[in-house]
Amino acid sequence: MSALSNRINNLSESATIKMAKMGRELAAKGVDVISLSFGEPDFHTPEHIKEAAKQAMDKNMTYYTPVAGYPDLRKAVVNKLKTENGLDYEPTDIVVSTGAKQAIANAVLCLVNPGEEVIIPTPYWVSYSEVVKLAEGVSVFINTTVEQNFKITPAQLEAAITPKTKLFMFSSPCNPTGSVYSKDELEGLAKVFEKNPHVYILSDEIYEHINYIDKHESIAQFDYIKDRVVIINGWSKAFAMTGWRIGYTASSKEIATACDKMQGQITSGTCSITQRAGVAAYEGGLETVLEMRKAFKKRRDIVYKLLSEIDGLQVNLPDGAFYFFPNVTSFFGKSYNGKTINDSDELSIFLLEEAHVATVGGDSFGDPTSIRLSYAAAEDKLIEAVRRIKEALAKLS
Ligand code: PMP
Ligand code: GLU
Repeated sequence: MSALSNRINNLSESATIKMAKMGRELAAKGVDVISLSFGEPDFHTPEHIKEAAKQAMDKNMTYYTPVAGYPDLRKAVVNKLKTENGLDYEPTDIVVSTGAKQAIANAVLCLVNPGEEVIIPTPYWVSYSEVVKLAEGVSVFINTTVEQNFKITPAQLEAAITPKTKLFMFSSPCNPTGSVYSKDELEGLAKVFEKNPHVYILSDEIYEHINYIDKHESIAQFDYIKDRVVIINGWSKAFAMTGWRIGYTASSKEIATACDKMQGQITSGTCSITQRAGVAAYEGGLETVLEMRKAFKKRRDIVYKLLSEIDGLQVNLPDGAFYFFPNVTSFFGKSYNGKTINDSDELSIFLLEEAHVATVGGDSFGDPTSIRLSYAAAEDKLIEAVRRIKEALAKLS
Protein backbone atom coordinates (compact mmCIF):
# COMPACT_ATOMS: atom_id res chain seq x y z
CA MET A 1 0.00 0.00 0.00
CA SER A 2 1.31 3.45 -0.87
CA ALA A 3 2.15 5.81 1.97
CA LEU A 4 1.04 8.66 -0.22
CA SER A 5 -2.37 10.22 -0.60
CA ASN A 6 -4.61 9.55 -3.57
CA ARG A 7 -4.26 13.26 -4.25
CA ILE A 8 -0.57 12.99 -5.04
CA ASN A 9 -0.77 9.53 -6.58
CA ASN A 10 -3.32 10.82 -9.09
CA LEU A 11 -1.34 13.93 -9.93
CA SER A 12 0.82 13.88 -13.08
CA GLU A 13 4.33 15.27 -13.01
CA SER A 14 4.57 18.57 -14.93
CA ALA A 15 5.57 17.49 -18.45
CA THR A 16 7.40 20.73 -19.16
CA ILE A 17 9.50 20.32 -16.05
CA LYS A 18 10.04 16.61 -16.71
CA MET A 19 11.34 17.17 -20.23
CA ALA A 20 13.57 20.03 -19.08
CA LYS A 21 14.98 17.67 -16.43
CA MET A 22 15.59 14.90 -18.97
CA GLY A 23 17.36 17.37 -21.24
CA ARG A 24 19.56 18.59 -18.38
CA GLU A 25 20.43 15.01 -17.36
CA LEU A 26 21.51 14.17 -20.89
CA ALA A 27 23.55 17.39 -21.08
CA ALA A 28 25.25 16.50 -17.77
CA LYS A 29 26.50 13.32 -19.48
CA GLY A 30 28.30 15.53 -21.99
CA VAL A 31 25.69 15.37 -24.78
CA ASP A 32 25.18 18.64 -26.69
CA VAL A 33 21.44 19.02 -26.00
CA ILE A 34 19.46 21.97 -27.32
CA SER A 35 16.56 22.61 -25.00
CA LEU A 36 13.37 23.81 -26.62
CA SER A 37 11.28 22.22 -23.90
CA PHE A 38 11.07 24.89 -21.26
CA GLY A 39 9.02 28.03 -21.72
CA GLU A 40 11.49 30.50 -20.36
CA PRO A 41 13.03 33.62 -21.91
CA ASP A 42 16.78 33.21 -22.41
CA PHE A 43 17.33 36.93 -21.71
CA HIS A 44 18.76 38.21 -18.45
CA THR A 45 16.52 40.18 -16.11
CA PRO A 46 16.98 43.90 -16.98
CA GLU A 47 19.59 45.77 -14.90
CA HIS A 48 17.25 48.30 -13.27
CA ILE A 49 15.19 45.44 -11.84
CA LYS A 50 18.23 43.63 -10.44
CA GLU A 51 19.42 46.92 -8.97
CA ALA A 52 16.16 47.36 -7.04
CA ALA A 53 16.60 43.88 -5.57
CA LYS A 54 20.18 44.65 -4.49
CA GLN A 55 18.98 47.83 -2.81
CA ALA A 56 16.19 45.94 -1.05
CA MET A 57 18.76 43.59 0.47
CA ASP A 58 20.98 46.48 1.52
CA LYS A 59 17.96 48.13 3.16
CA ASN A 60 17.28 44.88 5.04
CA MET A 61 13.94 44.31 3.40
CA THR A 62 14.31 40.72 4.46
CA TYR A 63 11.26 40.21 6.66
CA TYR A 64 7.87 38.63 6.13
CA THR A 65 5.71 40.75 3.86
CA PRO A 66 1.94 41.22 3.88
CA VAL A 67 0.56 37.94 2.44
CA ALA A 68 -0.94 39.62 -0.64
CA GLY A 69 2.15 41.74 -1.31
CA TYR A 70 3.60 45.11 -0.30
CA PRO A 71 1.00 47.90 -0.62
CA ASP A 72 3.04 49.82 -3.21
CA LEU A 73 3.46 46.68 -5.32
CA ARG A 74 -0.28 46.08 -5.36
CA LYS A 75 -0.69 49.75 -6.26
CA ALA A 76 1.82 49.36 -9.10
CA VAL A 77 -0.23 46.43 -10.42
CA VAL A 78 -3.40 48.54 -10.24
CA ASN A 79 -1.67 51.33 -12.18
CA LYS A 80 -0.45 48.87 -14.79
CA LEU A 81 -3.95 47.42 -15.24
CA LYS A 82 -5.35 50.93 -15.67
CA THR A 83 -2.75 52.39 -18.01
CA GLU A 84 -1.98 49.31 -20.12
CA ASN A 85 -5.33 47.55 -20.08
CA GLY A 86 -7.89 50.27 -19.24
CA LEU A 87 -9.14 48.17 -16.31
CA ASP A 88 -10.20 49.52 -12.91
CA TYR A 89 -9.07 47.63 -9.85
CA GLU A 90 -8.17 48.57 -6.29
CA PRO A 91 -5.06 47.36 -4.45
CA THR A 92 -7.22 45.08 -2.30
CA ASP A 93 -8.31 43.26 -5.48
CA ILE A 94 -4.73 42.16 -6.14
CA VAL A 95 -3.00 39.15 -4.55
CA VAL A 96 0.70 38.79 -5.39
CA SER A 97 1.89 35.18 -5.33
CA THR A 98 4.92 32.97 -5.83
CA GLY A 99 4.60 33.00 -9.60
CA ALA A 100 1.52 32.98 -11.79
CA LYS A 101 1.50 29.26 -11.11
CA GLN A 102 0.57 29.81 -7.48
CA ALA A 103 -1.91 32.52 -8.49
CA ILE A 104 -3.69 29.93 -10.67
CA ALA A 105 -3.66 27.33 -7.89
CA ASN A 106 -5.05 29.87 -5.40
CA ALA A 107 -7.88 30.84 -7.71
CA VAL A 108 -8.87 27.28 -8.64
CA LEU A 109 -8.69 26.03 -5.06
CA CYS A 110 -10.77 28.99 -3.89
CA LEU A 111 -13.46 28.61 -6.55
CA VAL A 112 -13.93 24.94 -7.36
CA ASN A 113 -15.78 22.47 -5.13
CA PRO A 114 -15.33 18.70 -5.52
CA GLY A 115 -17.38 17.48 -8.49
CA GLU A 116 -17.80 20.90 -10.09
CA GLU A 117 -16.86 21.21 -13.74
CA VAL A 118 -14.04 23.32 -15.14
CA ILE A 119 -14.09 23.96 -18.88
CA ILE A 120 -10.66 24.03 -20.50
CA PRO A 121 -10.12 24.45 -24.24
CA THR A 122 -7.43 22.12 -25.61
CA PRO A 123 -4.54 22.42 -26.09
CA TYR A 124 -3.97 24.05 -22.71
CA TRP A 125 -1.03 24.70 -20.43
CA VAL A 126 -0.06 21.48 -18.63
CA SER A 127 -0.81 22.60 -15.07
CA TYR A 128 -4.45 23.60 -15.65
CA SER A 129 -5.95 20.11 -15.59
CA GLU A 130 -3.68 19.03 -12.75
CA VAL A 131 -4.63 21.88 -10.45
CA VAL A 132 -8.28 21.08 -11.18
CA LYS A 133 -7.53 17.54 -9.98
CA LEU A 134 -6.09 18.96 -6.76
CA ALA A 135 -9.35 20.83 -6.23
CA GLU A 136 -11.23 17.55 -6.99
CA GLY A 137 -12.99 19.30 -9.83
CA VAL A 138 -13.84 17.68 -13.14
CA SER A 139 -12.09 18.99 -16.25
CA VAL A 140 -14.33 19.28 -19.31
CA PHE A 141 -12.32 19.79 -22.47
CA ILE A 142 -13.33 21.68 -25.61
CA ASN A 143 -11.20 20.44 -28.47
CA THR A 144 -9.82 22.90 -30.99
CA THR A 145 -7.86 22.25 -34.15
CA VAL A 146 -5.11 23.94 -36.10
CA GLU A 147 -7.75 24.80 -38.76
CA GLN A 148 -9.60 27.02 -36.25
CA ASN A 149 -6.26 28.44 -35.13
CA PHE A 150 -6.83 26.63 -31.81
CA LYS A 151 -9.53 29.07 -30.69
CA ILE A 152 -12.99 28.05 -29.47
CA THR A 153 -16.22 29.52 -30.79
CA PRO A 154 -19.08 30.87 -28.64
CA ALA A 155 -21.19 27.92 -29.82
CA GLN A 156 -18.58 25.43 -28.55
CA LEU A 157 -18.49 27.22 -25.21
CA GLU A 158 -22.25 27.29 -24.90
CA ALA A 159 -22.49 23.57 -25.64
CA ALA A 160 -19.94 22.74 -22.92
CA ILE A 161 -21.63 24.70 -20.11
CA THR A 162 -23.84 22.69 -17.73
CA PRO A 163 -25.46 23.58 -14.39
CA LYS A 164 -22.36 22.06 -12.77
CA THR A 165 -19.88 24.33 -14.57
CA LYS A 166 -18.00 26.55 -12.13
CA LEU A 167 -15.00 27.82 -14.03
CA PHE A 168 -13.61 28.37 -17.51
CA MET A 169 -9.79 28.51 -17.83
CA PHE A 170 -7.80 29.71 -20.81
CA SER A 171 -4.69 31.61 -21.81
CA SER A 172 -4.41 34.30 -24.49
CA PRO A 173 -1.75 34.54 -25.89
CA CYS A 174 -1.93 30.77 -25.51
CA ASN A 175 0.65 28.36 -24.22
CA PRO A 176 1.19 26.04 -26.15
CA THR A 177 -0.31 27.28 -29.45
CA GLY A 178 0.56 30.98 -29.50
CA SER A 179 -3.03 31.81 -30.51
CA VAL A 180 -4.34 35.23 -29.51
CA TYR A 181 -8.04 36.03 -29.11
CA SER A 182 -9.16 39.32 -30.67
CA LYS A 183 -11.51 41.72 -28.89
CA ASP A 184 -14.43 40.52 -31.04
CA GLU A 185 -13.69 36.89 -30.30
CA LEU A 186 -13.52 37.59 -26.57
CA GLU A 187 -16.78 39.52 -26.75
CA GLY A 188 -18.43 36.50 -28.37
CA LEU A 189 -17.36 34.38 -25.38
CA ALA A 190 -18.29 37.12 -22.88
CA LYS A 191 -21.86 37.16 -24.22
CA VAL A 192 -22.13 33.44 -23.44
CA PHE A 193 -20.82 34.05 -19.92
CA GLU A 194 -23.33 36.88 -19.50
CA LYS A 195 -26.12 34.33 -19.98
CA ASN A 196 -24.48 31.95 -17.47
CA PRO A 197 -23.95 33.86 -14.23
CA HIS A 198 -22.80 30.70 -12.39
CA VAL A 199 -19.58 30.47 -14.44
CA TYR A 200 -16.33 32.18 -13.41
CA ILE A 201 -13.50 32.88 -15.84
CA LEU A 202 -9.79 32.45 -15.22
CA SER A 203 -8.01 34.53 -17.84
CA ASP A 204 -4.31 33.72 -17.94
CA GLU A 205 -2.58 36.73 -19.50
CA ILE A 206 1.02 35.92 -18.61
CA TYR A 207 2.09 36.23 -22.29
CA GLU A 208 0.35 39.60 -22.69
CA HIS A 209 3.50 41.37 -23.87
CA ILE A 210 4.57 38.62 -26.23
CA ASN A 211 1.95 39.42 -28.81
CA TYR A 212 2.91 40.09 -32.43
CA ILE A 213 -0.37 41.27 -33.89
CA ASP A 214 -2.33 43.69 -31.82
CA LYS A 215 -2.70 45.32 -28.53
CA HIS A 216 -3.46 42.80 -25.78
CA GLU A 217 -7.14 42.31 -25.06
CA SER A 218 -8.46 41.06 -21.72
CA ILE A 219 -11.84 39.44 -21.29
CA ALA A 220 -12.16 41.49 -18.07
CA GLN A 221 -12.88 44.57 -20.24
CA PHE A 222 -16.52 43.47 -20.55
CA ASP A 223 -18.10 45.11 -17.51
CA TYR A 224 -21.05 42.75 -17.37
CA ILE A 225 -18.78 39.81 -16.47
CA LYS A 226 -15.76 41.57 -14.92
CA ASP A 227 -16.74 40.57 -11.37
CA ARG A 228 -16.45 36.91 -12.36
CA VAL A 229 -13.10 37.21 -14.14
CA VAL A 230 -9.86 36.35 -12.37
CA ILE A 231 -6.92 37.78 -14.31
CA ILE A 232 -3.67 35.87 -13.94
CA ASN A 233 -0.48 37.69 -14.82
CA GLY A 234 3.11 37.98 -13.71
CA TRP A 235 6.65 39.03 -14.38
CA SER A 236 8.23 35.74 -15.56
CA LYS A 237 7.76 36.17 -19.30
CA ALA A 238 7.57 39.93 -19.87
CA PHE A 239 10.57 40.81 -17.72
CA ALA A 240 12.58 37.57 -18.02
CA MET A 241 12.04 36.89 -14.31
CA THR A 242 11.20 33.18 -14.21
CA GLY A 243 13.46 32.41 -11.25
CA TRP A 244 12.23 35.28 -9.10
CA ARG A 245 8.81 33.68 -8.59
CA ILE A 246 6.25 36.43 -8.73
CA GLY A 247 2.78 36.63 -10.27
CA TYR A 248 -0.67 37.85 -9.28
CA THR A 249 -4.42 37.60 -9.47
CA ALA A 250 -6.68 40.58 -10.12
CA SER A 251 -10.28 39.77 -9.22
CA SER A 252 -13.32 40.77 -7.21
CA LYS A 253 -12.60 41.53 -3.57
CA GLU A 254 -14.43 38.36 -2.50
CA ILE A 255 -12.09 36.16 -4.54
CA ALA A 256 -9.02 38.22 -3.61
CA THR A 257 -9.78 37.84 0.10
CA ALA A 258 -10.14 34.09 -0.40
CA CYS A 259 -6.82 33.83 -2.31
CA ASP A 260 -5.13 35.84 0.45
CA LYS A 261 -6.49 33.41 3.06
CA MET A 262 -5.42 30.36 1.02
CA GLN A 263 -1.93 31.73 0.46
CA GLY A 264 -1.63 32.70 4.12
CA GLN A 265 -1.89 29.03 5.04
CA ILE A 266 0.43 27.70 2.33
CA THR A 267 3.31 30.06 1.49
CA SER A 268 2.61 33.56 2.90
CA GLY A 269 3.81 36.55 0.87
CA THR A 270 6.32 35.89 -1.90
CA CYS A 271 9.99 36.83 -1.43
CA SER A 272 10.42 40.40 -0.12
CA ILE A 273 13.37 41.13 -2.42
CA THR A 274 11.52 39.82 -5.45
CA GLN A 275 8.62 42.11 -4.64
CA ARG A 276 10.89 45.16 -4.69
CA ALA A 277 12.16 43.99 -8.07
CA GLY A 278 8.54 43.65 -9.18
CA VAL A 279 7.83 47.28 -8.30
CA ALA A 280 10.91 48.42 -10.25
CA ALA A 281 9.80 46.37 -13.27
CA TYR A 282 6.33 47.89 -13.33
CA GLU A 283 7.57 51.42 -12.72
CA GLY A 284 10.47 51.17 -15.16
CA GLY A 285 8.54 51.25 -18.43
CA LEU A 286 8.30 48.74 -21.25
CA GLU A 287 11.46 49.48 -23.21
CA THR A 288 13.22 46.21 -22.37
CA VAL A 289 9.99 44.26 -22.83
CA LEU A 290 9.56 45.63 -26.34
CA GLU A 291 13.15 44.79 -27.24
CA MET A 292 12.64 41.19 -26.14
CA ARG A 293 9.40 41.01 -28.08
CA LYS A 294 11.20 42.17 -31.21
CA ALA A 295 13.77 39.41 -30.76
CA PHE A 296 11.05 36.79 -30.19
CA LYS A 297 9.24 37.88 -33.34
CA LYS A 298 12.41 37.56 -35.41
CA ARG A 299 12.97 34.07 -34.01
CA ARG A 300 9.38 33.10 -34.66
CA ASP A 301 9.75 34.06 -38.31
CA ILE A 302 13.02 32.14 -38.68
CA VAL A 303 11.66 29.00 -37.02
CA TYR A 304 8.36 29.16 -38.89
CA LYS A 305 10.15 29.20 -42.22
CA LEU A 306 12.41 26.30 -41.25
CA LEU A 307 9.64 24.16 -39.72
CA SER A 308 7.43 24.75 -42.76
CA GLU A 309 10.14 23.16 -44.90
CA ILE A 310 9.97 19.86 -42.98
CA ASP A 311 7.88 17.23 -44.74
CA GLY A 312 5.13 15.82 -42.55
CA LEU A 313 4.84 18.69 -40.03
CA GLN A 314 1.70 20.80 -40.02
CA VAL A 315 2.59 24.19 -38.55
CA ASN A 316 0.50 27.29 -37.80
CA LEU A 317 1.97 30.77 -37.50
CA PRO A 318 1.55 31.74 -33.84
CA ASP A 319 0.49 35.31 -33.07
CA GLY A 320 1.96 35.38 -29.57
CA ALA A 321 3.87 33.61 -26.77
CA PHE A 322 7.04 31.75 -27.82
CA TYR A 323 5.94 28.29 -28.84
CA PHE A 324 5.20 26.25 -31.95
CA PHE A 325 2.77 23.38 -31.67
CA PRO A 326 3.15 21.45 -34.94
CA ASN A 327 0.96 18.47 -35.71
CA VAL A 328 3.13 15.35 -36.01
CA THR A 329 0.53 12.65 -36.69
CA SER A 330 2.06 11.83 -40.09
CA PHE A 331 5.01 10.24 -38.24
CA PHE A 332 2.86 7.91 -36.14
CA GLY A 333 3.38 4.27 -37.08
CA LYS A 334 6.79 5.00 -38.59
CA SER A 335 9.96 3.37 -37.25
CA TYR A 336 13.70 3.79 -36.94
CA ASN A 337 16.18 1.24 -35.59
CA GLY A 338 13.37 -1.16 -34.66
CA LYS A 339 11.50 1.47 -32.63
CA THR A 340 8.04 2.53 -33.75
CA ILE A 341 6.61 5.96 -32.93
CA ASN A 342 3.05 5.61 -31.65
CA ASP A 343 2.30 9.04 -30.26
CA SER A 344 3.65 12.54 -29.79
CA ASP A 345 5.29 11.74 -26.44
CA GLU A 346 7.27 8.96 -28.13
CA LEU A 347 8.19 11.34 -30.93
CA SER A 348 9.41 13.87 -28.40
CA ILE A 349 11.60 11.22 -26.72
CA PHE A 350 12.85 10.13 -30.17
CA LEU A 351 13.89 13.72 -30.91
CA LEU A 352 15.69 13.98 -27.60
CA GLU A 353 17.57 10.72 -28.13
CA GLU A 354 18.18 11.00 -31.86
CA ALA A 355 18.49 14.77 -32.46
CA HIS A 356 19.43 15.81 -28.93
CA VAL A 357 16.68 18.40 -29.03
CA ALA A 358 14.32 18.58 -26.05
CA THR A 359 10.65 19.29 -26.87
CA VAL A 360 7.43 18.37 -25.04
CA GLY A 361 4.88 15.82 -26.28
CA GLY A 362 1.34 17.13 -26.73
CA ASP A 363 -0.45 14.66 -24.46
CA SER A 364 -0.05 16.68 -21.29
CA PHE A 365 -1.35 19.76 -23.14
CA GLY A 366 -4.49 17.74 -23.85
CA ASP A 367 -3.59 17.27 -27.51
CA PRO A 368 -1.68 14.12 -28.42
CA THR A 369 -1.40 15.05 -32.10
CA SER A 370 1.37 17.61 -31.68
CA ILE A 371 4.62 18.46 -29.94
CA ARG A 372 5.59 21.78 -28.39
CA LEU A 373 8.79 23.62 -29.23
CA SER A 374 9.79 26.77 -27.38
CA TYR A 375 11.69 29.31 -29.45
CA ALA A 376 12.90 31.26 -26.41
CA ALA A 377 16.47 30.35 -27.33
CA ALA A 378 19.31 31.99 -29.26
CA GLU A 379 18.90 32.17 -33.06
CA ASP A 380 21.91 29.96 -33.87
CA LYS A 381 20.64 27.31 -31.45
CA LEU A 382 17.17 27.43 -32.99
CA ILE A 383 18.52 27.03 -36.51
CA GLU A 384 20.69 24.10 -35.46
CA ALA A 385 17.82 22.51 -33.48
CA VAL A 386 15.44 22.59 -36.45
CA ARG A 387 18.18 21.22 -38.72
CA ARG A 388 18.63 18.29 -36.33
CA ILE A 389 14.88 17.72 -36.04
CA LYS A 390 14.56 17.63 -39.82
CA GLU A 391 17.43 15.15 -40.10
CA ALA A 392 16.01 12.88 -37.37
CA LEU A 393 12.46 12.91 -38.75
CA ALA A 394 13.77 11.99 -42.19
CA LYS A 395 15.11 8.73 -40.68
CA LEU A 396 11.59 7.58 -39.80
CA SER A 397 10.00 5.33 -42.39
N1 PMP B 1 0.56 30.34 -17.17
C1 PMP B 1 1.11 29.94 -18.32
C2 PMP B 1 0.26 29.86 -19.53
C3 PMP B 1 2.47 29.60 -18.36
O1 PMP B 1 3.03 29.22 -19.51
C4 PMP B 1 3.24 29.64 -17.19
C5 PMP B 1 4.65 29.16 -17.21
N2 PMP B 1 5.50 30.13 -17.06
C6 PMP B 1 2.62 30.09 -16.02
C7 PMP B 1 1.28 30.42 -16.04
C8 PMP B 1 3.36 30.19 -14.72
O2 PMP B 1 4.25 31.25 -14.72
P1 PMP B 1 5.12 31.65 -13.45
O3 PMP B 1 6.54 31.46 -13.84
O4 PMP B 1 4.81 33.09 -13.18
O5 PMP B 1 4.71 30.76 -12.34
N1 GLU C 1 5.38 27.70 -18.15
C1 GLU C 1 6.62 27.27 -18.75
C2 GLU C 1 6.33 26.19 -19.74
O1 GLU C 1 5.22 25.98 -20.11
C3 GLU C 1 7.61 26.88 -17.70
C4 GLU C 1 7.48 25.50 -17.13
C5 GLU C 1 6.38 25.37 -16.14
O2 GLU C 1 6.26 26.23 -15.27
O3 GLU C 1 5.65 24.41 -16.26
O4 GLU C 1 7.23 25.55 -20.20
